[in-house]
Amino acid sequence: GKMEPTDLNKLVKEAANLSFHGMKATENSYDVDLDFDLNENVGEIPVIAEDFSRVILNICNNAFDAMHEKVKNLDGQEEYLPKLTVRTIKKGKKVSIDIEDNGPGIPEDLKAKILQPFFTTKKGTQGTGLGLSITNDIINAHGGQIDIESEPGSTCFTITLSK
Ligand code: ADP
Ligand code: MG
Repeated sequence: GKMEPTDLNKLVKEAANLSFHGMKATENSYDVDLDFDLNENVGEIPVIAEDFSRVILNICNNAFDAMHEKVKNLDGQEEYLPKLTVRTIKKGKKVSIDIEDNGPGIPEDLKAKILQPFFTTKKGTQGTGLGLSITNDIINAHGGQIDIESEPGSTCFTITLSK
């Protein structure tokens, strides 16, 4: 693919929906909300569309996995409504995408490792540990930045691109 001006809100929405429906199709009893808060002034941003879609898909897939783990671990003891929120934000010439979940969070000692290839906390064949490494490479190839904020009950991946 090549770098082309792309309707970023549309790309983000389609990729997040793809992740959501993929997850619902394999885990139909997994009750989870997907919310969008897309800034209508974001407009067209130069990206390699198929690569950038993969970035959104990978981050959303991880979020759904993490929240699903929490659902399983709660064992019906606690009220918990898994929710993924996807935002686009315009800051002058920069555009950010927030992908935020209310799952268990990323332990402090793992934060530095999750972007590395083959790092996974998933059992057996569930995880290759390549998703975030590829994600990071694609974001770097776009001259962008990835920031991760996480605490128990909230994890937010922020991707920032300059127009
Ligand atoms: P994989 O999904 O195959 O494990 P990734 O590179 O996509 O590989 O992710 C690496 C690890 O980062 C995951 O195994 C998980 O431990 C952690 N992780 C990623 N996103 C989240 C999240 N939203 N909440 C909690 N942990 C996460
Ligand atoms: Mg992954």
